[in-house]
Amino acid sequence: MDKIICLGKNYSDHIKEMKEAAPEKPVLFIKPESSFIEVKEGIKIPLPWHRGEIHHELEVVFKLYKKNIIGIGLGLDLTLRDVQKKLKEHGHPWEIAKTFKNSAIVTPFKAIRDFEGDWKQTPFILKVNGQIKQQSTMSQSILDPNQMIHYIDEYFPILDGDLIFTGTPSGVGPLKPDDEIELSMGPIQYKFKLVDKTRGC
Ligand code: ZN
Repeated sequence: MDKIICLGKNYSDHIKEMKEAAPEKPVLFIKPESSFIEVKEGIKIPLPWHRGEIHHELEVVFKLYKKNIIGIGLGLDLTLRDVQKKLKEHGHPWEIAKTFKNSAIVTPFKAIRDFEGDWKQTPFILKVNGQIKQQSTMSQSILDPNQMIHYIDEYFPILDGDLIFTGTPSGVGPLKPDDEIELSMGPIQYKFKLVDKTRGC
């Protein structure tokens, strides 16, 4: 992996909940490999809670090889929302709100053939402490997967192993230490915990 390429504002229900105008095309930004952590069942993930609200953004994640999708995963694009809000007000880049350690949480990848039926119609779901917080399907996204890759390719070199975070649907909200997280989409099913940074980071 060289980088994680993220789409912002790729689901209209999320653009509405943020009370923002729809851009002409979704926003692009990058998370470095150092922000990445792979989910394992039961893993405990420390986060920097002292820096303001950390919001979950549930996203379908693609793994690419030769600009083709070779794996589908689920991810949390964690965002320091208070920090991001201030940056937006000043018209500054979002980087520091999005690139902290463990801010790109990603499940192991499945092949498209591992999904029963159309993977784009398979609901992807985030539960926090047993409650559904975000739920959608890839078919709701503004750009379809091929359009995303084509669009990204205009601006960034896409290297083998790069990941795409494909944007979040509505329902984003704050997390807290000791929250139990469940990510699911067809054959992808993981449960893990968020913990205090002081315990193990
Ligand atoms: Zn996002």
